[in-house]
Amino acid sequence: MIAPRHTSGEYTVGRYQGAYAVFCGCEVIARGYTSVANAEAKVDALHRQDGLTERDCIRCGDEFMSEGAHHRMCAPCRAGASDIFDGAV
Ligand SMILES: [Zn+2]
Repeated sequence: MIAPRHTSGEYTVGRYQGAYAVFCGCEVIARGYTSVANAEAKVDALHRQDGLTERDCIRCGDEFMSEGAHHRMCAPCRAGASDIFDGAV
């Protein structure tokens, strides 16, 4: 049984009831933040909780949300790499 988990990009920050809130899809999962920065800090915390960390892509250098030490390339680079070497991650 695999527990449901969120992947990169599912969390968004937006206005909610006069403050800022963190949304997951259309669901409000955290609210009452007085600044975007505070809400984004919550998003970072959620990513860490999900086992994701920000890394620089080894190919293009862009920041992306990495699932772990094995995950060093952003999605576009991984898509490109698999054209060359099938099975590359
Ligand atoms: Zn890349």
